[in-house]
Amino acid sequence: MSVVVRFAPSPTGYLHAGNARIALINWLYAKAHGGRFILRLDDTDAARVKPEYVAAIGEDLAWLGIDWRDEPVRQSARLALYQEAANRLKAQGRLYPCYETAAELDAKRKLQAAAHKPPLYDRTGLKLTADERARLEAEGRRPHFRFLLDHRTISYDDLVRGPTTIETASQSDPVLIKEDGTVLYTLASVVDDAALGITHVIRGEDHVTNTGTQIELFEALGASAPRFGHLSLLIGADGAPLSKRIESLALKNLRADGIETLALASFLAKLGTGDPLEPINALGDLAKGFALDRFGKAPARFDPAELSSLSARTIHAMSFERARPRLSALGLGAADAAYWNAVRGNLARLDDAKTWWPVINGPLVPVIEDAAFAMLAASLLPDDRLDGTSWGLWTKRIAEASGRKGKALFHPLRLALTGRGDGPAMADLLPLIGRERALARLAGHTS
Ligand code: GLU
Repeated sequence: MSVVVRFAPSPTGYLHAGNARIALINWLYAKAHGGRFILRLDDTDAARVKPEYVAAIGEDLAWLGIDWRDEPVRQSARLALYQEAANRLKAQGRLYPCYETAAELDAKRKLQAAAHKPPLYDRTGLKLTADERARLEAEGRRPHFRFLLDHRTISYDDLVRGPTTIETASQSDPVLIKEDGTVLYTLASVVDDAALGITHVIRGEDHVTNTGTQIELFEALGASAPRFGHLSLLIGADGAPLSKRIESLALKNLRADGIETLALASFLAKLGTGDPLEPINALGDLAKGFALDRFGKAPARFDPAELSSLSARTIHAMSFERARPRLSALGLGAADAAYWNAVRGNLARLDDAKTWWPVINGPLVPVIEDAAFAMLAASLLPDDRLDGTSWGLWTKRIAEASGRKGKALFHPLRLALTGRGDGPAMADLLPLIGRERALARLAGHTS
């Protein structure tokens, strides 16, 4: 059986780290199994869907490096299919009209709570006669439609959670069609998963209870249910659910913060597994040996500080070949491998590569703490072309001549040559700064 998976976001907001994790895991699962990945937009909620969210989903997935062959599927273009499925369910007596208003349902739930009963829908709609329905409609009420659950035990083998049972008897018959005729996700998703031949539904744990209903729906519609895998939800570093802070983890914000795509991908693919966080060179690296059983059932801890640190490590390990186009885009087209290799280990985000350009190429205002010491240092600078060994040689001479060591020796030299107190290794910077510019800076000249 060839694998077909889908990522099915609702374009009612921007994609965040939680969605991206589900998208990536589906994509990796498809890659690892030579399968297909389908993007499906669950956009039936016309009131909340916005074109900018639809556009952003494409941009965000592209940024993450997720690609796919098939045209994206839009549920809003498939309403006739859902209607047809609804008609079949009605004909079987599995979809029945109900007329309660939201306020009436609320009042029922309050009475149930007072009587210490679970807030289950009492199936009043199912018991209505044709006359009663006609009377309710004559009052101006429009029906919504509920799916008649079988009230049985559904057992399935979850790809992440293992053997799982769901008692549909403990659930209210779900509304599948709203009063205004809108088809809800629960039905539309099953119709599409069946029509698109989805073999594996990989999604968040918040959908486990839907799975009971959806398995009954697949059966009622004469389709075989796919395999399901439910990934545990994300929690923050403090153990609290991430849902409230998730907006700050929108992909567009992470991108603006300078988080490296490959770091985010590696981070998201490893969250909730015992695997170490490591920089990767390509997204495909994550697909090798990718398996869902590595994911645990416990909530996965998302620590933004760990992500930032992995992002920095990803930059530190990046080859010049990979960095080159991005340096050009920053206006550093003249940067060479020596420049990149000198500065990369100091970058928290790639854009910061810009800050070191004037340090090497000027103009830079040197900071001279002790002019006499700077002059002494200048007189001892090796005569020949500066290379990787020059800094060691030079500072040894200065140490001998001045008696200084440690911070008192190195700090004023760094301040004079770079204008700042920290940065990349001076042994790497000195040959790039060059003899002439170093002498000018030691003499206190802007250079
Ligand atoms: N649109 C649903 C969501 O974003 C999809 C859930 C599913 O994968 O079935 O939660």
